[in-house]
Amino acid sequence: MKTLSGKTAVITGGSRGIGRAIALKMASEGANIAILYAGNKEAAQKTVSELLNLNVKAQAYQCDVADADATSAICKEILNDFSSVQILVNNAGITRDGFLRRMKEEDLDAVLNTNLKGAFHMIEGFYGTFLRAREGRIINISSVVGLSGNGGQTNYSAAKAGLIGLTKSIAKELGSRNITCNAIAPGFVETDMTASLPEKVREETLSSIPLKRMAQPEDIADAAVFLAGPHASYITGVVLRVDGGMCM
Ligand code: NAP
Repeated sequence: MKTLSGKTAVITGGSRGIGRAIALKMASEGANIAILYAGNKEAAQKTVSELLNLNVKAQAYQCDVADADATSAICKEILNDFSSVQILVNNAGITRDGFLRRMKEEDLDAVLNTNLKGAFHMIEGFYGTFLRAREGRIINISSVVGLSGNGGQTNYSAAKAGLIGLTKSIAKELGSRNITCNAIAPGFVETDMTASLPEKVREETLSSIPLKRMAQPEDIADAAVFLAGPHASYITGVVLRVDGGMCM
């Protein structure tokens, strides 16, 4: 028996990187999948084809999670298309790195609005659905820098730390309705987001990881499938580091 049969999962940023790996692993456990993406339609269509090959229902929706109105409309469209939703993974994220004294207001806003407010918008979109069904699993993809901080990433670290506060608050707010909310804090993951990092930064980061390798997106996806599945029904408000020991 597949652990997510009969469930529908919504994964923001599900077209590439970590979100794509989560979508594929959840689909291989039997979940129907709705993915949100920002603008790269080709990547989204490719991921949807891979999902359909796993014999689940799958659809991609272009939607900027930073836009409250667009997000509200897409959540309604997804509910219309899939009838019900039980799992929400807030994974969409961007970086706009730089030292604070030179950081443009637009870079601060873009990172906070996408990484943090995007999760608020999506949770709001499915809040009533989860409440009425007395069932829901919310998984927020934070980062180890939300726990440890990181020079040159004040905007991103603040957004990812904010997601942890949001996670714990939702866990308390909705726990009595059988809705869990947990965060995953990935370390250094091999995706497009980290592909452009200078070799020196990669080497320094790798040397600080006890397991001496970068994570693959599938390492993070395994944790998300666990938190969405039956073996995590009594886990809520947790921040699960998946970082090779980087941030202990
Ligand atoms: P990625 O490869 O850059 O993929 C980002 C995904 O998010 C894409 O599907 C993108 O869609 C989507 N997206 C971006 N902005 C969006 C928006 N405003 N609305 C809707 N979708 C949007 O990123 P990743 O490395 O897989 O990271 C995924 C998550 O893990 C992020 O939250 C990131 O902060 C977090 N994380 C990553 C690492 C790492 O080392 N990679 C470490 C810790 C945490 P398009 O393709 O259409 O642009």
